[in-house]
Amino acid sequence: RAAAAQDARSPDRLRSPIVCILGHVDTGKTKILDKIRKTNVQDGEAGGITQQIGATFFPLDAVKRETSKLALGRALEHNIPALLIIDTPGHESFTNLRSRGSSLCDIAILVVDIMHGLEPQTMESIELLKQRKTPFIVALNKVDRLYDWKAKPMTPVIEALPAQKRHVQDEFKRRLAETKVAFAELGFNSEVYWENDDVRGQVSLVPTSAISGEGIPDLLYLLVSLTQNLMRDRLMWTTHVECTVLEVKMIEGLGTTIDVILTGGTLKEGDTIVVCGLDGAIVTTVRALLTPHPMKEMRVKGQFLRHGSIEAAQGIKISADGLDRAVAGTQLLITEDGGSEEELDLLRDEVMKDFATILTAVDKS
Ligand code: GDP
Repeated sequence: RAAAAQDARSPDRLRSPIVCILGHVDTGKTKILDKIRKTNVQDGEAGGITQQIGATFFPLDAVKRETSKLALGRALEHNIPALLIIDTPGHESFTNLRSRGSSLCDIAILVVDIMHGLEPQTMESIELLKQRKTPFIVALNKVDRLYDWKAKPMTPVIEALPAQKRHVQDEFKRRLAETKVAFAELGFNSEVYWENDDVRGQVSLVPTSAISGEGIPDLLYLLVSLTQNLMRDRLMWTTHVECTVLEVKMIEGLGTTIDVILTGGTLKEGDTIVVCGLDGAIVTTVRALLTPHPMKEMRVKGQFLRHGSIEAAQGIKISADGLDRAVAGTQLLITEDGGSEEELDLLRDEVMKDFATILTAVDKS
């Protein structure tokens, strides 16, 4: 199967990178995600940004519109279709997004409060990122808290910063220098992104304000340019299904469903899937592939759109029988040659291998 998967990979087609957000509590992770989601709404355009299951789908066109404010943004090519940004910030969702011990997250945003520097959970986040070998960029958030900062809403920070008074720039430089020393003590060279000429060897720092939006265009630009330039191999679209269970959820009218992130291949209604269960592997048939109805609140009933098939990378809700005891944070496999007993046994064994390493139990909420 591995050989077949190799054959099916194509350098001409990349999938959307998966972006996670980590960092100490109260650094502004949720606010940054909100700001990213509202980016184009504020510009008065629909922008095609859609809420998915567990993630926000941010099409490259929308990124380009935002980053065209940056001279740099003009260099962006249409290589990846979108950014898929995971909606739940923090350690747990990052830990759940994995497959065979490595992370499904392609790149992370590590949020640091510029007024506080590196804090205990920043260290924990860095440890996790190191373990999973996940590249990351740093949002140096809350620049608007620098004394006397003059807000320049949704402006690239490379313009907003030089427009500040001398003493504001001086305070920024001082705090930046402190942050760089703190990162150096952890073994990371770091540099503000516009001065970073070694993106593989040095962590890029992006000053941001999640309140007024300075630096948000820069953050989007950097996510796109780094993923499409440095991760082509990893992001090659493959016909081989790669899928991770993010959450197990009871939904009125649907029963127990699983929310998954599909990072490779295509899922279809009627597929036979194999997932890890508390009492052993679950073999079941996809009854429906669902995504939120655009324009509708997630809470509203009958809110889901049904799809005959969905291609990676996407966040999807799967409705199927027998999912009550499914386990989050494990991979989902599909039968590829008709579901013979031999094949099913192999798949059962494979999904249950994940079980031993699971930290997160079933979310029955
Ligand atoms: P999280 O715990 O990392 O998700 O942090 P939140 O996004 O919930 O933000 C924590 C607090 O910091 C909230 O009161 C936010 O309004 C505030 N906050 C977040 N980002 C910024 C920012 O860029 N500037 C300022 N001044 N406050 C912020």
